[in-house]
Amino acid sequence: MGFDLRLQVIAAFILMATVVAGPAFTADIESARIWRAPDNTRLVFDIDEAFDYKHFSLDNPRRLVIDIKSTGLKANLDKLDIAKTPISKIRSGLRGSADLRIVLELKEQVRVNSFTLKANEQYGDRLVVDLFDTVKEMAKKPVSKLPLSTNRQIMIAIDAGHGGEDPGAVGPKSIYEKAVVFQISQRIKKLFDNNPDFKAELVRTGDYYLAHRKRTAIARKSQADFFISIHADAFTNPQANGASVYALSTRGATSEAARFLAKKENRADLIGGAEGSLNLDNTDPALREVLLDLSMTATLSSSLDAGKYVLKNMGSVARLHKKRVEQAGFLVLKSPDIPSLLIETGFISNPKEARQLSSAGYQQRMAAAIYNGLVSYYIDNTPEGTSLAANKGKRERSYTIARGDTLSEIAQRYNTSVTTILSYNKMGSSTIKVGQKIMIPARQ
Ligand SMILES: [Zn+2]
Repeated sequence: MGFDLRLQVIAAFILMATVVAGPAFTADIESARIWRAPDNTRLVFDIDEAFDYKHFSLDNPRRLVIDIKSTGLKANLDKLDIAKTPISKIRSGLRGSADLRIVLELKEQVRVNSFTLKANEQYGDRLVVDLFDTVKEMAKKPVSKLPLSTNRQIMIAIDAGHGGEDPGAVGPKSIYEKAVVFQISQRIKKLFDNNPDFKAELVRTGDYYLAHRKRTAIARKSQADFFISIHADAFTNPQANGASVYALSTRGATSEAARFLAKKENRADLIGGAEGSLNLDNTDPALREVLLDLSMTATLSSSLDAGKYVLKNMGSVARLHKKRVEQAGFLVLKSPDIPSLLIETGFISNPKEARQLSSAGYQQRMAAAIYNGLVSYYIDNTPEGTSLAANKGKRERSYTIARGDTLSEIAQRYNTSVTTILSYNKMGSSTIKVGQKIMIPARQ
């Protein structure tokens, strides 16, 4: 055999081998996403078939290696925005005949947690890799109670439901609950921030997922007086419509819808992976139950009371799904010491409400109703040591008329008279309409 011929045979053999043993992918990474939260980075790979994977860390240079068996890469990992994350570069390559290796080059040390997620409303099966910042974790100080000043502002923690990998309910025309409720939450915060007696904080500050336990922990850390979780959910029946307000129930749910929604919301915590269900409190569980029960009773009665004010105000903006504050076992409401409400601003599964909920005007009216409800509650139930208590009657205030309001009731609440309100607002008669804004004069 001449040299040329031998080469040809070898070439043919290589060609044949390639054809026969060509990459035998059983799955593909169709796409990938990255979510940056204040203290962690989440990488998500959409994989179209069942897959086997492992990951391990290497040093010098610092990197995380993710090996996925029999899987091809269709997604373009270069498109992932790694700015503001600990990742400096993402490489990938074929390992063996058909296994995929993804290498994350890291700028700093991270703690890694990975898990798989089943398909939801928006995505198919996924591999989730969480990188927790360790620098910030170490810098975390134990929560120290600030001395309560005599003139403190009332702090409202506003939690926009869902986020990141959890879209919440998905309405017609790809309207996502997580986006709508984030916009409404920002509007509520602005209203509180413009009131000198209040202060508000967004629990979720961007598009990333937070486990329910973490949401309540953030509210506690900021010493919130009140916690509201904003939602816009879906129901099995697209006809279902209207807004509702929920407080926690430690026993049964008050209605079928309440049971359904609580189950759905609580299930979202699977998206948190092991981290989400991790119990970070070291208290003895039996003792914790007792303590929880004791303070929960007082907290719950405040929640229910405030819920009535919010519901009444929301009634001027939206049709109410239920006329009273409902109760269900929502995980996110389980703060023993902070009164909490879950507010359903409407059903995103209902085409008309989905359209409304994504409009700026409606969002603003809804935000104002929630804000007015809570402010009215605090005017009637003012905590000691707050600037609201110190300045009671000394400030001019605005009030938006809610359904069922009468001028004499409003006058009584603000320690003034109907005549004073009428002349201050240059009103010819005591006829008021829902949504009308009136000014309450400061007492001389
Ligand atoms: Zn929701």
